[in-house]
Amino acid sequence: MTCRIRVLSDNVISQIAAGEVIEGPHAVLKELVENSLDAGASSITIALEKGGKSLIKVSDDGEGMSGEELQIAFHRHSTSKIFSAEELVNITSLGFRGEALASIASVARVSAVSQMKDAAEGYSLVIEGGIQKDFVPAGAAPGTMIAVKDLFYNVPARKKFLKSDQRELDKCLNIFRALALSRPEIEWTVFVEDKLKFKYAPADLSQRIGDIFGREMREGLIEVNLTNGPYKITGFAADKSHTRKTRQYQFIFLNNRRIIDRRLGFFIQQAYERIAGRDSFPCYFLYLEMESSLVDVNVHPAKLEVRFRQEWEAGNFVKRAVHKALGVDSFIPQTDIQPRGYFSQPHSAQRLSMNPSVQAQLYQSPVELGQSQQTDKSESEQQSSDNGSEAYYIPDILFQLHDKYIVTQVRDGLIMIDQHAAHERILYETALKALTSGSAVTQKQLFPRLIEFTPMEDQLFEQLLPCLNNMGFGIKPFGPHTYLIESIPGGGKISVEGGLARGMR
Ligand code: ADP
Ligand code: MG
Repeated sequence: MTCRIRVLSDNVISQIAAGEVIEGPHAVLKELVENSLDAGASSITIALEKGGKSLIKVSDDGEGMSGEELQIAFHRHSTSKIFSAEELVNITSLGFRGEALASIASVARVSAVSQMKDAAEGYSLVIEGGIQKDFVPAGAAPGTMIAVKDLFYNVPARKKFLKSDQRELDKCLNIFRALALSRPEIEWTVFVEDKLKFKYAPADLSQRIGDIFGREMREGLIEVNLTNGPYKITGFAADKSHTRKTRQYQFIFLNNRRIIDRRLGFFIQQAYERIAGRDSFPCYFLYLEMESSLVDVNVHPAKLEVRFRQEWEAGNFVKRAVHKALGVDSFIPQTDIQPRGYFSQPHSAQRLSMNPSVQAQLYQSPVELGQSQQTDKSESEQQSSDNGSEAYYIPDILFQLHDKYIVTQVRDGLIMIDQHAAHERILYETALKALTSGSAVTQKQLFPRLIEFTPMEDQLFEQLLPCLNNMGFGIKPFGPHTYLIESIPGGGKISVEGGLARGMR
């Protein structure tokens, strides 16, 4: 009987390893750039095509590789970063597993050119699906260029799982932002579909945050700086006014490696306890440094998660640093508004008169707002619709409290309405209708307004633009990351507070 168990070939093992390490183009980008950083690069250029599906190219001016090294680099478990298992407890480089290049080369068409700083010439290597196709001397600049084409061309099952070009591009750019933040002293250049997308000169951290997230973010930052025993933390945390509705602006770097650590995030959130609400997340860019022996980075294939030897201690240290930076005073927001409510003269609820059609809209349930009125109705409601044409009980007494809430009686009790939320709901339904029916009424503005975005917001806005135009906005591109609003949906007005209007001038 033939033996059914065999040892897999290196190429198959690499493809399997690629399943863990190379999730998609963004993971390739991360591995290539981390190699450039480990090679001591001071300038890194990235080129992406079709969201990285057809090309991810990373060029650096780092130490380069000899011809022999260039070939070995693509073998499985080949690394210049560690030599023994003991070194695993003391890792200072970003890479050490020696599997990224082999994994990438097993699932793509790769060409690489590298030259060492003082060498007379460099070498060029081509590998497709793990098989070396070409290796020749080549004239090159000192440093390394690695181009990864047609990712997963030989693994159709994995290719199918890739998202749209735009989604994959977004993921790549998110990785790029984290890398650019991890090393602001480096010059970064990014081309997308052959067009220059970002160029960041060497900078300090605050400037880099501004490059990426815009001036407004940069100006709202408070410096964080604390050292205690083996721990040191530097960076910035934003004050209360810079909380956002997503965690997208939360960055923790550990020894210059971006990490995702929910527990550490939790400690930081605690430092913000009294200012951050349920849906508001503080923005921060924190750089934690500690002896590499106090942390195990070898617990996650992409090295995104780490294990702290003293998790509680590390977490508390970070929390204390953020707490100290925010200062007790910053918990109390500065405001010119006179105190109202409990601390002011009690004023009686105000009686409102309201146009009946607005009242009717306010008293419809969210479900009914969007549909024809076919929902189940209680007996009493049924009666009322039978008696008259009105399906809803329209109360005649309304009270407004603190310019915020409307309180009134209905047949079975009382209703309290958050005025602002109700208004938003009405606008939302109108916008939805316009979006689906394409029947938006627009209103030309006498004075068109300019709106300016950060590069990251612009990326998103470009995608939203067709929808906004459908909804009745007349918005045109007007220079880099800037748009001109010529018309807005009928009945609306441009607000200068909050939301998209933040960058308006
Ligand atoms: P690791 O980074 O874990 O060592 P990789 O497969 O990513 O493994 O890379 C293998 C080796 O190739 C690295 O250890 C390094 O010596 C070399 N290498 C890869 N990319 C570069 C680069 N851009 N410049 C110089 N050397 C590189
Ligand atoms: Mg590597």
